[in-house]
Amino acid sequence: MTVTAAADTALLAAARRIADEIAAPNAEEVDREARFPAEAIAALREEAALSALVPDDLGGAGASLEAVAGACFELGRRCAATGMVFAMHQIQVACMVDHRGDGAPWFDDYLRELVAEQLLIASITSEVGTGGDMGKSIAAVSTPDADGAASFEKQAPTVSYGPHADAFLTTVRRGPDAEPGDQVAVLTRREQMEMESQGTWDPLGMRGTCSPGFVAKAEFATEQVLPVPFATISAETMTPVSHILWSHVWLGIATDAFDRARAFVKAAAKRKPGEPLPAATRLSELMSELSLLRAEVGLALREYCDLHAGDRARLAEMATILRFNNLKIAASEQAPKVCQEALGVCGIVGYKNDTPFSVGRHLRDAMSARLMVANERIHATDASLLLIAKEV
Ligand SMILES: Cc1cc2nc3c(=O)[nH]c(=O)nc-3n(C[C@H](O)[C@H](O)[C@H](O)COP(=O)(O)OP(=O)(O)OC[C@H]3O[C@@H](n4cnc5c(N)ncnc54)[C@H](O)[C@@H]3O)c2cc1C
Repeated sequence: MTVTAAADTALLAAARRIADEIAAPNAEEVDREARFPAEAIAALREEAALSALVPDDLGGAGASLEAVAGACFELGRRCAATGMVFAMHQIQVACMVDHRGDGAPWFDDYLRELVAEQLLIASITSEVGTGGDMGKSIAAVSTPDADGAASFEKQAPTVSYGPHADAFLTTVRRGPDAEPGDQVAVLTRREQMEMESQGTWDPLGMRGTCSPGFVAKAEFATEQVLPVPFATISAETMTPVSHILWSHVWLGIATDAFDRARAFVKAAAKRKPGEPLPAATRLSELMSELSLLRAEVGLALREYCDLHAGDRARLAEMATILRFNNLKIAASEQAPKVCQEALGVCGIVGYKNDTPFSVGRHLRDAMSARLMVANERIHATDASLLLIAKEV
């Protein structure tokens, strides 16, 4: 067995166990109290799952993106917030692994530290004033002093697990005079930051992600800036990997809603053997909808992994950007649809919050999907690309 295959098997086994034994029994409380899923994240740390994507020459497991996506699915199926925290962390790690550059020892050292300490990394891309437009920043890196020390201040509307993260990957303009789209990504440790909380986090769903706003101020050394323009990081890694891992979490949510609908229909069939069961037909229709989601998510993962392993430059091509934007739009619309139709199958026992067939949490969690970079914004980007792309 190769290092990657062994790491993948171990990661998936750990994720399944943690999902079933730790995330699932705490999911309702995490949702009700909008609290961080601390016990599931601690268990993932114990399994060294936070460094799954770190290459083995830096001490990590060197697991594949396929296995990490599988873990997001398993966790999302039992507790969407746990799945989403895990997914968001892995996205930041993937960006550092792919774009640390040859001449950036700071990031190699940081990744070794992440392996040893199982550090949790949050993301600050959204900004008050630019909203979900990841490709533009208002905040900027200050002009470095003679020792290479710099700073930034960013108004962040939503920082998932901000109060619990050990470090933050933040997008900012390259310098005070840079254009809004001339961005870099900076990794700063919590102790280098001042995080001034802006309000509370009492949302409809994804409550356990604990994502209030902050004014984030940081002082850091310039070697903590990833040595590649953010536009490249975004095209090759952050955007496609975000869309892939998020959609695996959403597939997990939808799959559990389907499983609950199926359990409801099976229980009804047991109660009235031989009688016609209209809900069974609706369940079959629901399975078709779930299959569409599963197919789209699985195919996109394989396509990305092939491109990443082969001709990575093609990830920045318009056709590829459109492809992974479409994954996000399709999955974020299909997952709530599956949850809503599962509610239709289960009826009132699905609507109540305290039955084995409840799907209210699933529906609320899945509704966040279209907001995690607004679908309308992605459609606007796609509409422009469709006018000029040679092939799609
Ligand atoms: C659960 C959750 C966790 C999150 N965690 C983080 C995090 O950790 N870090 C982070 O940086 N961000 C995070 N975000 C994302 C962040 O909250 C939003 O992307 C950001 O705040 C933008 O807010 P907005 O919804 O107002 O969207 P905006 O993009 O500002 O859009 C506002 C409105 O305008 C519409 N709109 C925008 N552009 C267009 C267009 N071109 N055409 C038509 N309509 C348009 C949108 O549909 C929306 O209705 C998270 C989001 C969610 C839901």
